Amino acid sequence: MSDSIFTQIINGDIPSEFIYEDEHCVVINDINPQAPVHALVIPRKAITMLVDASDEDQALLGHLMLVASRVAKDLGVAEGFRVVVNNGESVGMTIYHLHLHVMGGRTYAEQDMG
Ligand code: AMP
Repeated sequence: MSDSIFTQIINGDIPSEFIYEDEHCVVINDINPQAPVHALVIPRKAITMLVDASDEDQALLGHLMLVASRVAKDLGVAEGFRVVVNNGESVGMTIYHLHLHVMGGRTYAEQDMG
């Protein structure tokens, strides 16, 4: 199977600005933001989706949540943001490489839950 867009971004095959990176993950701004702040936390490990994660990924999954929190603080939305993980085509997943959406900058009531 060919590499996902996110693997290509992580490998530098598709240019993208990392707003944060470490040995386990990178963070980029979503190309089609659904909120004033909309970042994607993407593990370097190409886990297809959350249901494919296993016990060996426990520390990585925790790390991704902490990075989501850190990015929310860095981007000035720590007072209110959502972390969303889509799992599967039926809920609109389009890129089959696990990622966390970090969305903030407007009130919860204004946000589309999709
Ligand atoms: P999902 O629907 O959970 O698979 O989310 C995939 C997200 O990736 C969508 O919000 C897209 O807007 C975003 N996206 C797709 N291609 C890129 C890209 N090249 N750079 C940044 N974000 C992207």
